[in-house]
Amino acid sequence: MIDERTLTILTESAKYDVSCSSSGSDRRNEGGIGNGYASGCCHSFTPDGRCISLLKILLSNDCIYNCKYCLNRRDNDLPRATATADDICGLVMDFYKRNYIEGLFLSSAVHISPNHTMEQLCLVVKKLREEYGFHGYIHVKGIPRADMEIVNRTALFADRMSFNIELPSESSLKLLAPQKDKESLLLPMAKLQREKAVFRAEKRKGHFLPAGQTTQMIVGASPEKDGSILRLSQGLYRKNGLKRVYYSSYVPVLHDALLPEVAGGALREHRLYQADWLLRFYGFDAEELLPPDEDLSLEFDPKCAWALSHMEHFPVEVNRAPLEMLLRVPGIGARSAQRICAARRYTRLTFEHLKKMRVVLKRAKHFITASGKFYGAAENAIRGLLSAQEAHANATQLDLFSMNETALSALTGEL
Ligand code: SF4
Repeated sequence: MIDERTLTILTESAKYDVSCSSSGSDRRNEGGIGNGYASGCCHSFTPDGRCISLLKILLSNDCIYNCKYCLNRRDNDLPRATATADDICGLVMDFYKRNYIEGLFLSSAVHISPNHTMEQLCLVVKKLREEYGFHGYIHVKGIPRADMEIVNRTALFADRMSFNIELPSESSLKLLAPQKDKESLLLPMAKLQREKAVFRAEKRKGHFLPAGQTTQMIVGASPEKDGSILRLSQGLYRKNGLKRVYYSSYVPVLHDALLPEVAGGALREHRLYQADWLLRFYGFDAEELLPPDEDLSLEFDPKCAWALSHMEHFPVEVNRAPLEMLLRVPGIGARSAQRICAARRYTRLTFEHLKKMRVVLKRAKHFITASGKFYGAAENAIRGLLSAQEAHANATQLDLFSMNETALSALTGEL
């Protein structure tokens, strides 16, 4: 059984990895305990957005690598611990039965060697599935430079896997994470995707990463602009079929001349998440969202910034505009756009209809007409009005229990 010291060290060391939101898995319970199927892997978030329903733990924090931004780096003097596979399995089962967790997010420092670490991670997930009968959601970390044979074997038992890119360019990796390079991180993702396609095509028995792959990038530890980050994310979504890219604002936990003294900035991280959302669900291309200086506006959300610099396309008439154009209107989210397209087949839409469809009219009204009516401001006043709204919206922390219209829109992705 795992002792308290080991548990404290390994959970504490795992807290800077944010790439663990769930789920997307379609693997159903086949007779054991737990369920990784969609809502079967319940998760909740603390007010600052952290996922809390998975047991998030490292197998080891005793790393042979020396990434400069990382608390667990080899040269950092901190208490070290390594758990056994049975330690982790026992913990997961105990916590699951007590209803503390619905699943597991298992990561690890590179302990002894990449292959040794990957083998141990594989052993945990294999044991959980085969010996302990655990069918809950499991997200496991991929270890760069581990053999693909071990990685593929692990993928047969996990719902999701993530190789963390951490830094968006080869030069920054060389400087801050010298034991890693882009190939050791991107190649396994591509190979896993290919293996999954083969697994499906051959209709093999079992599962192979049903919830796909994710990755994480640290924002602000290195000098790359938002353009480099967004283009990389877009490539990962399009070429490697990634489910999510997580952005983690840099937190200065260690002093090093090569690292910034200040944190990366939560607003920048937020803007990247908004832009990422637009890439995945709103039909935007990274190039459209990036201003000439390659950094997303902090003043306006990326969709609003795009609309303000393309006022020649507005206002659009909601009764006629194609779905692709509705999706580009600030204040009309993906769901509202679908509702508009469905409803206008039967009726001529007015602002009253739009309000009922949860369109955020205080933003959208400047960019639309409904049955010919326009209630927006003059073009030269819109920027100031929306800027004031943004400043107000950014001043409050989102809270699940006191949602106003703006907060609800943000949570449901109504950008
Ligand atoms: S490989 Fe790098 S980022 Fe991962 S635990 Fe080791 S030092 Fe930290």
